[in-house]
Formats: sequence, C-alpha cells, structure tokens
Amino acid sequence: MDYSPAFEIAATSDRYVYPLFLFVIMLPIMPEIESLPEGASLQRHNLNHQAVEDYLKTIYMLAQDESPVSTSRIAEARGVKPASATSMIQRLAKFKLVNYEKHYGVTLTDAGEKVALEVIRHHRLIELYLIEALGFTWDEVHEQADILEHVISEKLEERIAAALNHPKFDPHGDPIPGKDGAMAWVDARPLTFHTLGDHLIITRILDDSNAELLRYLAELGLIPGAHIRIVAVAPFAGPITLEVGGETKVIGQKAASEILVKVDD
Ligand SMILES: [Zn+2]
Ligand SMILES: [Zn+2]
Repeated sequence: MDYSPAFEIAATSDRYVYPLFLFVIMLPIMPEIESLPEGASLQRHNLNHQAVEDYLKTIYMLAQDESPVSTSRIAEARGVKPASATSMIQRLAKFKLVNYEKHYGVTLTDAGEKVALEVIRHHRLIELYLIEALGFTWDEVHEQADILEHVISEKLEERIAAALNHPKFDPHGDPIPGKDGAMAWVDARPLTFHTLGDHLIITRILDDSNAELLRYLAELGLIPGAHIRIVAVAPFAGPITLEVGGETKVIGQKAASEILVKVDD
C-alpha cells in the first residue's frame, strides 16, 4: 500500500527555504493562462481565468458523485443563481472546455478535465506545503489554497512537489493528481458504512473546507492515518463509539459520514 500520511514528512528543513523564498517573491506575479486553451481570447471575452478554473474544478468534483452534472448542482456549489451558472457554462462550452446539453447536463471535455486536474494538483500541493513548510494547521490551509491555486507557475508547482518528495495525498487524505493527471485510488468508505469491531484506518476527510469540523476531528485524534475500532453504534442512527489510540471517543453520524476509512489488514 503506497498510502503514506502527510504527517510523516519532517516539518522543518533547510530544503524548504529556497522554495519558500520563490513562493513569496512569485505571489504577485500573475501567470499566463498557459493551461487554458485560447487563453488570450478568454480574456477578450471577459472570462476571468480564475472563475473558469473554479467552475471546471467544481464540475470535476461534482461529477465524482454523479455525471453528467446538472446546472442547478453547479449553481448551488458555486453559490450563484442558476441563470448565471448556465451563462458561464454556455461560455465554457464555446471554448470546448465542457459539453453542455440542456436537460441533460454538463460533462468536462478532455481539455476541461486537464485544467481541473491541474488546479486540483496546485490546491492539494499548496495545502501540504503550507503545513509542512510554514506551520499552518490543517483547518487553515484550504482557504489559502483556494486563492493560491490559480496563481502559482508550473515551475513553482514543480519545486513544491519536489520539496515535498512528490506526495500522493494532501493533509486531508485527498489524492494529489500527478503531472499526467493520474491519482492514487484507495478502497475507502464512509465510517458510517462499517460494522462493529472493524479495525479501520482513516484515509480521508471529505469536506476539507469545513474548518470547524477539521478542528473537532483533530481534537478527537480522528485524522488520516489514525487506527480506529468501532466499539458501539447506538440504535436509530445514533452516536458511534470508537476506540482511538487507546481511548474511547463518541461521534455523531454526521461527523462520521465525513470520515472515509479502509479496513486495516
Ligand atoms: Zn482544500
Ligand atoms: Zn485538502
């Protein structure tokens, strides 16, 4: 199993100093829209590359649950009205980043998926880098990465990946796409699916944007890599009692549904 918890990487080391320096001096520099096709014409059409990347990323994520993705789900996820999501999607379709058919939904084209995976790679590498090199906590980094994912250059991305020894997972257990877009796959299911007495390992926390949830789980020791055992489940979808690091902890079904686990074998 090549799953290696992010936390095992040494926290501070000289090899981070140079990438950190690069990181800081390059922040104000907006990159060219090299990953987007027809970048110049995107700008002519008032299509902001950050908005384009955010939409493509959102569609990619939603498609993991159900594809094609409806425009209403995209609007909800972006926090915009359905009409503005639809108009954005029509523009993305014009640039051949998505396929869109009314009443059918949206799928990413190969070009759209490439952009989405590139942004997700940036996001997850940045999250890990902020923790390992700058001492951020795992509940702080998603917000930062959401901003920085759009502005780092390919060169900086490579340096961050190298400084972190080409990690396969981010601090929340989300797989980091490689340069080629390939991602590690872990056979994991929500904690709520498992039965009494199972020996489990936490692999991933689903909502890495929920800082409050992340702080709560960390307090309980429920982080990727932790070994746990289900001691009891109260009836009627009641609380789950867990054994974590020799201690007994109780969590509700809602929090448990955010925790992905695999069987410890
Ligand atoms: Zn994140
Ligand atoms: Zn994450």
